[in-house]
Amino acid sequence: MHIFDAIYKKGNMLQCKFSDNFIHPNYLGAEFPLGQHLITAISYSKEYVKELYSDLIKSYISYLDNETENNFKAYEQALFKIDDYCIYLHEISYKLITTIKATHPRYSLSDCMDFINSFDKNTITNFTNQFTRIKKEVSVQFKECILLWNTAVELLLDEFDLSINMIKSDISDICNSPATATGLDRLAWLDVNRRIHFFDMDFPVRLSVDLGEAVDSKFFVSQKTDEESIAYSISLCTTEQMMYYDFSSSLENNLPFKMCKNCNTPFIPKGRVDSLYCDRTMPGFKDKCSVIGALNTYKNKQPGIEADFYAARKRYATRVSRNPLLKTEFEVWKINAKEKLTAYRNGEISADEFKKWFMDDEWSKI
Ligand SMILES: [Zn+2]
Repeated sequence: MHIFDAIYKKGNMLQCKFSDNFIHPNYLGAEFPLGQHLITAISYSKEYVKELYSDLIKSYISYLDNETENNFKAYEQALFKIDDYCIYLHEISYKLITTIKATHPRYSLSDCMDFINSFDKNTITNFTNQFTRIKKEVSVQFKECILLWNTAVELLLDEFDLSINMIKSDISDICNSPATATGLDRLAWLDVNRRIHFFDMDFPVRLSVDLGEAVDSKFFVSQKTDEESIAYSISLCTTEQMMYYDFSSSLENNLPFKMCKNCNTPFIPKGRVDSLYCDRTMPGFKDKCSVIGALNTYKNKQPGIEADFYAARKRYATRVSRNPLLKTEFEVWKINAKEKLTAYRNGEISADEFKKWFMDDEWSKI
């Protein structure tokens, strides 16, 4: 499904124009930072996204039942909240809203056959059973409708999870690659089949009228001015194609994809490039990884360990002054020692590991 009509790259931002504005008459497209939404797509919180969709479903059905301006605003806000969280979920919103629109309030199965037929047999049976219940229990219809569409969201999210498996593992592999490679060179770390996939990617490029300036990361029909600027864009994209385009453009722009030391999930540091922890509160954790990381680093620190380190260094230096033949060896040791000290200070190695290194070193046996 070509959910995006065109993608423009502007510095560290991507702009997308939707192929269809059926789900919102004035909403043309969105602008979002390179890499960041992609990272969210491969590590999204399912519980949170389900809540966002639950709000979207409720507000949209309320709007269909009663087309007031306030109801439209509530629906619009719920829709924008999902795109702001992750633009790659836009296709799910699109499929969901178009299906609800076609089905509500008659709830005749024939109205949503396109949607149902895209799933496997068991899923279809469960979904249609839920569907027929709505017809029977007229008094609880609203509640039943919400349940039905929440089930539809779960099906769509399962489908989404399957579709992102490959790019998810590519990004993880690249985050585990040695830090020496930069930019597109990091693709060399992938196994040969995946590398070929990237080398063979072909995006249809065309010249078209640019989307102009975004307002709160959105483009609306009413924003259009007479002044049109022409820009290169890639055209007619599926969600998956846009993800690959986003990823290779992010690498090209040298975005530092890395693994978070706490949740072991890829992230792009928003602040300091050498951050070891991401800024997310991941499922199963109470705090943001950055907070947990700072606490671990603190716990790992032992009072006096740096003083012990400098005392050991002094002992080795004294030995060198007595035996100048050891000088070259000591210079090498000093470079390693500096790296170990930095690693300890950044929480990359524990205090025990650090101490073991500078005490158990060959130097102590001389
Ligand atoms: Zn993390």
